[in-house]
Amino acid sequence: MTSKDTILKDKMYINQSKIKRLTSNAICPKKYYMEEFVKEITDDDGKTKKLRETTESMNRGCYFEYQLWGTLPKDGKIPVAGRGKKKGSKSEIYKRIDEQVRNFPVIMAQYDIKVIKTNVTIEAQITPDTIVFGTIDALVEYKGRPYIMDLKLTADASSGWGNFNWGSFKDKGPDGVYIARYDPFDNDAMDTLQAHTYMYLMELRTKVRFGFIYAVFDYKPKDMGHKIIEVPYSEEAREALLERVVVTKSKLAEFEKTDYAPIPTWGECRTCKVPDCLARIPVDPWDMFECQASPLFLPAGILDPYDGNPNEPADTELAVVLFDDLVDGSGGLGIEDPFEDPFSFD
Ligand code: SF4
Repeated sequence: MTSKDTILKDKMYINQSKIKRLTSNAICPKKYYMEEFVKEITDDDGKTKKLRETTESMNRGCYFEYQLWGTLPKDGKIPVAGRGKKKGSKSEIYKRIDEQVRNFPVIMAQYDIKVIKTNVTIEAQITPDTIVFGTIDALVEYKGRPYIMDLKLTADASSGWGNFNWGSFKDKGPDGVYIARYDPFDNDAMDTLQAHTYMYLMELRTKVRFGFIYAVFDYKPKDMGHKIIEVPYSEEAREALLERVVVTKSKLAEFEKTDYAPIPTWGECRTCKVPDCLARIPVDPWDMFECQASPLFLPAGILDPYDGNPNEPADTELAVVLFDDLVDGSGGLGIEDPFEDPFSFD
């Protein structure tokens, strides 16, 4: 293995997004291994394909950050704007992103946020056997104190859907800044592990307590918006982070012990690009509601829409309710959200 993200001499070297990935949802060890260590495959025609590709929404985020600060994405390539219908023109979405680039300094001035340094790489020993690393979008001065700022671009900053449901933050201070308080019992709350990890890393390295804000910009067609969201320091959140580090380490050790044997789940297989995997679960959700489909394909916890007789046509109303629950990841039936947020970048 060549990746740094593995257990080496009893020390784990990892970033916050992998901690999040390994401690949030069901994860298939084989998929994890292929994506993190093998990374790409060559097909019979000799074409090389990445197992995790840069999506269009990720490109938009990278484009935004590059236009603002000249920050290059991890692959080192300058992000290119999507093309419009006319030759040589930009797509409407990228034109709106350009508008947000022009709005950015005005909005920063409105909140009295001063950008000090961008694209800051950092690593720190977070526990005796774990080194966590990351790249901070910007260090800023806000309310006369040092803050970490993470830039986000999303289709709609008021949307309450998906893993990056920026619309779920409703608690707003008199200065217009939203507050993302840590609440482990709020199932709808967004996972703010990134914020608490970076605050801890900076504190370990500088012995200064940094604040954290998200600067979220959207590109919706009408009334483009933004949100500044502060994530306050929380002792409880820091303890939760350390617990997740321990879980991450034991999960990786377990993966290695079982030689990364596949553990298929509907959500994991749906987005998996590993070719020819015999363990793959059929992933078309409509398969579940076909008259002849086996009820065995229903994820655990879902009521059987056939009501015990697989040859009977499915109850359409019930099937639609079940499908809605699957796609909005409400978790009401005990299913993890199988979709990644298509609009945000991390
Ligand atoms: S297809 Fe499913 S079981 Fe196979 S590696 Fe991918 S996620 Fe795992």
